[in-house]
Order: sequence, then structure tokens, then C-alpha cells
Amino acid sequence: MKPAQCAFRSFVDGQRCQRPALPNPESQGYCILHAPWDGKPMNKFQKAIEEIIQEAPNNQNTCDFSECYFPPNYDCFNLIDALVKFDCCFYRSTFFGEANFTEFSFYGEANFGKAIFSKKADFAETTFSKEARFEEAIFFEETYFTRATFYRNANFYNVLWGS
Ligand SMILES: [Zn+2]
Repeated sequence: MKPAQCAFRSFVDGQRCQRPALPNPESQGYCILHAPWDGKPMNKFQKAIEEIIQEAPNNQNTCDFSECYFPPNYDCFNLIDALVKFDCCFYRSTFFGEANFTEFSFYGEANFGKAIFSKKADFAETTFSKEARFEEAIFFEETYFTRATFYRNANFYNVLWGS
């Protein structure tokens, strides 16, 4: 039987996600990237993330992580290949666990517009070489931008600080 298609429709362009839905009921009909399920298999999730990174040269050198659901215990260090080479779009993505970007360097654009940080978000000593966008992001818990360096524009328009 052919697996069902992910139920996700992009808020950006209205396109339906082409990935197969996970078979587990907890995934609510969504794929490995979009399922708002904390228990989704981390190895499969990381594999899908790596596919996005490999696709970046064919996607205007952009890693499109928009609207992805990063499960708790996701180690943001696994994104390092994306950050050092490409623009990274986390538009409307959700970090359900801690988002630890401490001392990372974004060499391309960093777009966290409308991203949701459910737990601690740590951008202390993070370097943003190009534009950094956090407009309408939601930070639910403690958030650090201590000694972060912004070489270009930084947009924090309408950010919601939860604590
Ligand atoms: Zn999907």
C-alpha cells in the first residue's frame, strides 16, 4: 500500500508537502519533518534534514527548513553544515526542545521569522554574517543573545518574549 501523503500545506505558498506521512498515529498524518510528535525517530528526522542541506545548491543556496518541527533533544549542532555554507530558512519552524545555537556562525542569511521556541533559545556569542530575521518569532522561555554579533541587519519586529 502506498503511504499517505503528508497533510501539511505550506503557509508560505500553499503547496502540499510531497513527503509520505509517518504510519504512527502520533504523527497526525504528517511526515517526518512536519509531524508535531516528540517521539518521531531522530535518525529519520536528521536524514530528512541532511537531504534539505544536499538540495540547497539547487535551491538558490538556501536550506529550506521552514515549517519543520524540531523535536526535543534535537542537537542543533547537526545543522552546522547548513549554517556554514548556505542561507538557512527556519520560517515558522518550531523548536520544541532547547534551541542551542551558542557560538555558532551563520555565514548566510538566518531567517527565524515566525519561528516558535518552546524552550530555552540560546544565541549567545552567535555570529550572524548576513541578515538575521526574527520578526514575529515567539520565545516562550529564557532567551539569550548575549554578545551575539550582527554584521548586517537584524530584524526583531513584533517578537513575543514569553518570560
Ligand atoms: Zn510534510
